[in-house]
Amino acid sequence: MPIAAWVPRFRGGAVIEWDDHQYREPGPGELRIRIAANAICGTDRNEYLSGSSIVPGHEAAGVVSDVGPATTVPVGTPGVIYLMDFCGTCRSCRVGATNQCLAKRGDVGQNRDGGYGPYALVHESQFFPVPAGLDLGTATMLLDVMGTSSHAIARARLLRSDIESAYVAGAGPIGLGLLVMLKVRFGQDFPVSISDISPWRRKMAEELGGDPIDALDREAVLSRTPDISFDSSGRQSARELALAAAGKRGVLVCIGHGEGIQLNVSADLIAPERAVVGSEYFRYDELAENLGLLSDNEDYISRVITHRLPADRIDEAFDLFFSGETGKVVVTQETR
Ligand SMILES: [Zn+2]
Ligand SMILES: [Zn+2]
Repeated sequence: MPIAAWVPRFRGGAVIEWDDHQYREPGPGELRIRIAANAICGTDRNEYLSGSSIVPGHEAAGVVSDVGPATTVPVGTPGVIYLMDFCGTCRSCRVGATNQCLAKRGDVGQNRDGGYGPYALVHESQFFPVPAGLDLGTATMLLDVMGTSSHAIARARLLRSDIESAYVAGAGPIGLGLLVMLKVRFGQDFPVSISDISPWRRKMAEELGGDPIDALDREAVLSRTPDISFDSSGRQSARELALAAAGKRGVLVCIGHGEGIQLNVSADLIAPERAVVGSEYFRYDELAENLGLLSDNEDYISRVITHRLPADRIDEAFDLFFSGETGKVVVTQETR
């Protein structure tokens, strides 16, 4: 049976209105998920400002409410939704690189209804079950915060095996995700310098164990000489500084979309054997390990969430998030 529900419609110009919407029955291989929580992401700014024909939200957790034919996940299973509706059979998917699927069917919350509404229809292959005891607001940390940052760390590890320090440009949600995952993966004593222009964000990073730097203080960044650098800011000047700071054999991983980078190939890459790589979201098969890390470090990782607001206060949640003085803001649905 289709389900009628009220959903937030992003009209553009930071206007969110509520409207009636029908969620169809799940088809073959599909699940209908009753959403419990969705974390706000920096990229939601596009839909917030430009509007969207679908219900946004791509960091969602919920419970299976109905199943289509040819599925195996039982009704009532809690889990998180992987952004990309990957095909599962192309050359990328066959090696596990589901984030680089060559025949992707869609992206939840970007061109398919996502997690700011009460339901979402997804392929079973995109759903990742979590233990029943895990709070579903906290479970959203498995997505952009843990997933995207863990994948970026894995990209750096492909190029550098002796990593003893790291630098993160930008202490927004992805930067904070990198900070916590570096600490979780390399140990609480592993040095992570993290820069931002916002004193509020620097303080939050410090509370999570980072060594905060004013992003305008070039000398301070250069003095840290990290083995690996991450850019979550998307700014050209930040990328170039992050690469310069990572000395010989250094690696710069670019995660934030945005501006470019200017390279002097001989001096920046060849002579010091440095590498610049991109990192996009994460692979579905990385979720299982991250779930173990979340279970072992739930108190620490969930500190990245600073606010939880119910869906009928989504306006307030977006205002708050884009004020720049929050960690992750989670929008929760009333579940019955
Ligand atoms: Zn996101
Ligand atoms: Zn594929």
